[in-house]
Amino acid sequence: MRDDVLLNYINGCWTPAEHRSLLPVENPSTGAVLGFVPLSTATEAHRAIEAAAGAFPAWSRTPATRRTQPFFALLELLRRDEEALARSITEENGKSLADARAEVKRLIENCEVACGLPVLQQGDKLVGASEGIDGEVLRLPLGVFTMIAPFNFPGMVPFWFLPYAIAAGNTYVVKPSEQTPRTMDRLARLLDQVGLPAGVFNLVHGDRVVAEAFMEHPQVKGVSLVGSTRTCRAVAETCARHKKRCQAMGGAKNHLVVMPDARMDEVIRNLLSSCFGCAGQRCMAASAIVAVGRETHDRLCERLLEACQRVIVANPLDPAVAEEPMLMGPVISARAKTAIETLIETGVREGANLVVDGRGVQVPGCEQGHFLGPTVFTGVQPGMVIHQTEIFGPVVVVLCAATFDEAVRILNDHPYGNGASIYTQSGYWARRFKLEVECGMIGINVGIPAPVAQLPFGGMKLSQFSDIKAQGRAVIDFFTERKVVTERYWPEP
Ligand code: NAD
Repeated sequence: MRDDVLLNYINGCWTPAEHRSLLPVENPSTGAVLGFVPLSTATEAHRAIEAAAGAFPAWSRTPATRRTQPFFALLELLRRDEEALARSITEENGKSLADARAEVKRLIENCEVACGLPVLQQGDKLVGASEGIDGEVLRLPLGVFTMIAPFNFPGMVPFWFLPYAIAAGNTYVVKPSEQTPRTMDRLARLLDQVGLPAGVFNLVHGDRVVAEAFMEHPQVKGVSLVGSTRTCRAVAETCARHKKRCQAMGGAKNHLVVMPDARMDEVIRNLLSSCFGCAGQRCMAASAIVAVGRETHDRLCERLLEACQRVIVANPLDPAVAEEPMLMGPVISARAKTAIETLIETGVREGANLVVDGRGVQVPGCEQGHFLGPTVFTGVQPGMVIHQTEIFGPVVVVLCAATFDEAVRILNDHPYGNGASIYTQSGYWARRFKLEVECGMIGINVGIPAPVAQLPFGGMKLSQFSDIKAQGRAVIDFFTERKVVTERYWPEP
């Protein structure tokens, strides 16, 4: 048996996948093949779902306080392996070690919050709903839930859901991104050691064939997808057809609004990591900047262009630069790089000014890597393709609005609504921003307003095709049925 092919984890056993083909998993910095991921068949996905369904009755009856014990044990293993997990993320995703460590921290934080499930899952009771009648809300687990993950946060994103689903008494099947499957393999090897009964957690590698098998299988109660808006739409439609609960969190174009009174030194420092961290491949990356007033715009552009020179484009595992604060690795694949370059050409054709061009960057020793440097367009008008499209690379578009109201209009007319931030010292503008902007996550003098695990994570408009967000208390609604009991007892005669 080959040892460079990832295995599936089904019913408590590591098993070679029944697969349609094998896909190489690449280190995007060097182009080196790290191993192979099996593109599993639908039958393989069904096997995992059936194992999860078989484990559900006993697991759902296990006391809540016992269902969280495996996650307390997992926390110890995660803390022990924190650095190895971060390195695994960097190796297959290309983000800097600092970004990968931050990802692992948030993953751990979600596990910590899920350990509070015996409190978070408590129901409600209304004594005296009517004469001699009480109303009670029970939060009950439902059965098998599944998760379809994106490439950009291969460790953290599954943990927005998985620990909550399982601790609430459901059973689970995860499909990692076929582009970055190795981190979830590592995490599954930890989950294998924490005392979860066989079948409670399962892992199936593959592509959309596995995802579609999840959505179509009658024993699956719900699907959480994080991916592009195109995938979200397809998943939301299929789930509706098969009457599944669905969380589908999609693409983004996050705007930063810079007011005339913003502290420009802090703005530039924030903005650099917000725009170019993870090579712009965060769903919370800032990719559009709206300066309010021509003077603010000109000052901002001058400082931004100067700051772009400070971004180091390199292999993030190169020890010579690994701990540099503003380090940018490659984008995920040759295909992603070509798509980004095509959009840069579109911007030039549309008449925007390409003032920093990241194409053609060479990283010595990494000739097969997929690197792009920071790229900045100014003179961008709302409605241009480069403004409307999620480029998902280190490309920033700068717009100028005459007033705060015009800036808000630009944001609210945009199809995406994941995150948005304002830089201002004025409570008046900040308050209006948080109330008026149609985005799920708002920042005030914060570059990446990604909420901590205790708070809900999710967007609006085309950034989310469902109304229940990820993380914390919010996600418990997705993983439980709020069954309402209305009861009365007549007096004994
Ligand atoms: P993607 O949509 O290409 O793939 C995501 C997952 O969906 C993968 O596991 C893939 O195998 C599967 N998939 C692909 N096509 C499918 C289909 N037709 N039906 C069912 N499953 C399918 O996304 P990606 O490139 O891996 O990730 C990047 C995207 O994810 C970006 O658009 C980014 O903004 C978004 N994202 C959003 C959030 C958020 O919270 N809103 C977080 C992270 C990433």
